[in-house]
Amino acid sequence: MFDKNFNKWKVNNISFYELELKKDQLMTKMTKKRDLPSKTCPVCNRPFVWRKKWEKNWESVKYCSKKCSKEAKFLKKN
Ligand SMILES: [Zn+2]
Repeated sequence: MFDKNFNKWKVNNISFYELELKKDQLMTKMTKKRDLPSKTCPVCNRPFVWRKKWEKNWESVKYCSKKCSKEAKFLKKN
């Protein structure tokens, strides 16, 4: 009985460890992405990351998408 429970605990513990490991790997990937410059879109309040298409005008990029930039113009009008 004791052994059975012990094995169960052990198995759970290993899967938990693996989960932590996967989380670490994910965090590493995210950290790499975070190296790119990012901004927060004032329309949808979501952060967006530098893209190749913005290479030349990143400084003037304000919105995450065309949809948001349209919405911003719409909001200004009203
Ligand atoms: Zn947006």
